[in-house]
Amino acid sequence: EAIIHMRDLIKQYQMGDTTVTALDHASITVKKGDFVSIVGPSGSGKSTLMNIIGCLDHPDSGEYILEGQTVDKMKDYQLATIRNENIGFIFQNFNLLSRLTAVENVELPLIYRGTKAKERREMAMESLKKVGIADRAGHLPHQLSGGQQQRVAIARALVGEPPILLADEPTGALDSQTSKEIMEVLSQLNQQGHTIILITHDPEVAKMGKRMVRISDGKLSEVGMNEHEYLHI
Ligand code: ADP
Ligand code: ADP
Repeated sequence: EAIIHMRDLIKQYQMGDTTVTALDHASITVKKGDFVSIVGPSGSGKSTLMNIIGCLDHPDSGEYILEGQTVDKMKDYQLATIRNENIGFIFQNFNLLSRLTAVENVELPLIYRGTKAKERREMAMESLKKVGIADRAGHLPHQLSGGQQQRVAIARALVGEPPILLADEPTGALDSQTSKEIMEVLSQLNQQGHTIILITHDPEVAKMGKRMVRISDGKLSEVGMNEHEYLHI
């Protein structure tokens, strides 16, 4: 069953006299249990697409259905609710709050939801366990390595059990060994049933997905499995 259905999305930016087409009739369907990598070079439209998938921005035209709800024309306040219920964000720079401990960072999405303190702590610890970092629950972000911080950020994305994990260059700030470990964590979560959308410029990272979609000048095209080894971007 489809969690995301996007059809013919167009998004343009006006730069003085010129119009930049960041998304050009982009269409994609993501099913429950998918692990989709969206790969493309700088300027190809990745951030624009991620902002629309993540309900941070609207397309100019086209259809976007998320968990059965048509979101393309929703107002910002409605999008905020949809976003919090459906999307767990994972960013390149982790985006942890520096004055909160690991477990407190993981609790944040639950505070927004109004979950009670005791239950919040239990759920956050459970989520930290899932990504193998429960032993660092009381640490502040600066006391953790990059890979550990990203695990905490993944635990935060998971804690509200959103239908989709949306990862934007999740290994972009990590060395190659740590990148592999983080991609392994994402693979395991996918094997446990989590649906993942990964956006990256790096074909090596993109290969970890079950499906690869190329973005080029705002256009999306599915990359066939046997094309993987020939992919040069
Ligand atoms: P990527 O994330 O792959 O680097 P972006 O989605 O950021 O791609 O950009 C796609 C295209 O849209 C690029 O040509 C970029 O310069 C342009 N663009 C992105 N954001 C804006 C903006 N706010 N104003 C004008 N042009 C933009
Ligand atoms: P970039 O990849 O361009 O450095 P990020 O990936 O950090 O940017 O963030 C992409 C967008 O998501 C930004 O507009 C940012 O303000 C927004 N954002 C960051 N964290 C959250 C969040 N927890 N919930 C919703 N939106 C967020």
